[in-house]
Amino acid sequence: MDALRWIRAHLADYRSWQVWALPGWLRGFVVGVIVVDIAVVAVAAAMMPLRLHDLELFVALLACSVATVELTRRLGEGAGMAQDVYAIWELPVAILLPVAYVPLVPAARFALTQLRVRRVPPHRRAFSAAAIGISYVAAALAFHGMMHAAGGAIANPAGHALTWMLILAVSAAAQWAVNHVLVLTAIKGAVRTVSLKTVFTRESLQNDITELCVAVLVTFCVANSIIALVFAFPFVTLLQRSVRHTQLLNDARADSKTGLLNAATWDREATAEITRAVRAKTPAAVALLDLDHFKVLNDTYGHLVGDQVLKEVALTLTTMLREYDLAGRFGGEEFALLLPHTRSTDAFRIAERVRSAIAGLRIIAPGATGGERVSVTVSIGVAALDGGDTRELTDLMAVADAALYRAKGSGRDQVQMLSTTRGLSAAGGPGTGAARGETPIAFRRAVNS
Ligand code: GH3
Ligand code: MG
Ligand code: MG
Repeated sequence: MDALRWIRAHLADYRSWQVWALPGWLRGFVVGVIVVDIAVVAVAAAMMPLRLHDLELFVALLACSVATVELTRRLGEGAGMAQDVYAIWELPVAILLPVAYVPLVPAARFALTQLRVRRVPPHRRAFSAAAIGISYVAAALAFHGMMHAAGGAIANPAGHALTWMLILAVSAAAQWAVNHVLVLTAIKGAVRTVSLKTVFTRESLQNDITELCVAVLVTFCVANSIIALVFAFPFVTLLQRSVRHTQLLNDARADSKTGLLNAATWDREATAEITRAVRAKTPAAVALLDLDHFKVLNDTYGHLVGDQVLKEVALTLTTMLREYDLAGRFGGEEFALLLPHTRSTDAFRIAERVRSAIAGLRIIAPGATGGERVSVTVSIGVAALDGGDTRELTDLMAVADAALYRAKGSGRDQVQMLSTTRGLSAAGGPGTGAARGETPIAFRRAVNS
């Protein structure tokens, strides 16, 4: 009765649902995906003959999924596109059961996660469940279509193991693609600046491939005997635990506001990188970035806008740098970069590109009326370790800090570089030759402080 009252109270309050606050087309897209998912279940259920064997398999796979959520509950759930291994329970449902069952397992999993693990706006859970449900329906259609074309080998998976597993793997890949297209469309609609580089990391792709392979194996075994679930269950739970552990380790390395490395991690990894560069006599550079007049920006637009600016600056850094560069948030509005295998001239050029990209950002102020855009500039101090130098990270940081100090003193929105070896420095910015595309770097003699 309590549950009924809860549902009635929340449905009656439908005007306050956060989903209505989404921008126009995104609201239509999210609601559309949910409606299609529910319609598929309703239509398929109306046409489906009820078979005891199907029901047994459905209950067994649902139980595995629910038990995995419960057993890994204390490890929490990652933000964004969380990595998990639930395809291992959901792919067999899609392949071995009638379509009406397919969206029900992810729906139950997301409902349980919402109640027991982490509360997020309900429309997000409903959308994720529906997108996954639809993607498995697509996998089921792909599988049965290909099987039909291959002469119906489905009747005997063990007798046609190779064909069966290959078609299964292609169907699982189709599920992955459909789900990513649906979810990324929604993410792109909500956060226009999100970069695919941050979504498809090497780690996330490795995770997805492992998940797909185990899902194919388990589906193949369950097609032969439901008892396979008993032997798969401990392994899958362990796998889910290890996926979450890896994510928790990554979360502990990151700055929560920007997703860049936090100061301690940046310092540790940059120290190791510089030690390696000194030993191998290879070049490396550090850059310190400090946003200009950020206090004024906060005072003018508020801290929420300030935070949004920090996030956009961080995203610009992630997008512009190479995979092996280290970008960290050093303090409030200060960032640090470590550029391995980078000579001073290149380090300066990279810093200048970053400066110019940040100056070109036009950030939509959240909550501002009329789509007001905010811009920001940055001052950058660069210090380079050209091959053969024997400095430590702290020396380089001191030089970069002195260069940053000079950039601030010379009018901000510019890059200054002090070389640790040659006592030369370079400057660039909107008013300098470097920024106007003349001589790339105008070296001039400087006091190496
Ligand atoms: P300068 O050009 O000399 O660097 O001036 P500035 O105003 O950027 O420097 P200052 O050090 O005076 O101010 C830094 C400001 O950054 C003050 C603080 O309120 C703001 N800040 C620090 N951390 C955060 C944060 O996480 N979010 C927001 N919105 N503001 C922050
Ligand atoms: Mg500062
Ligand atoms: Mg500042």
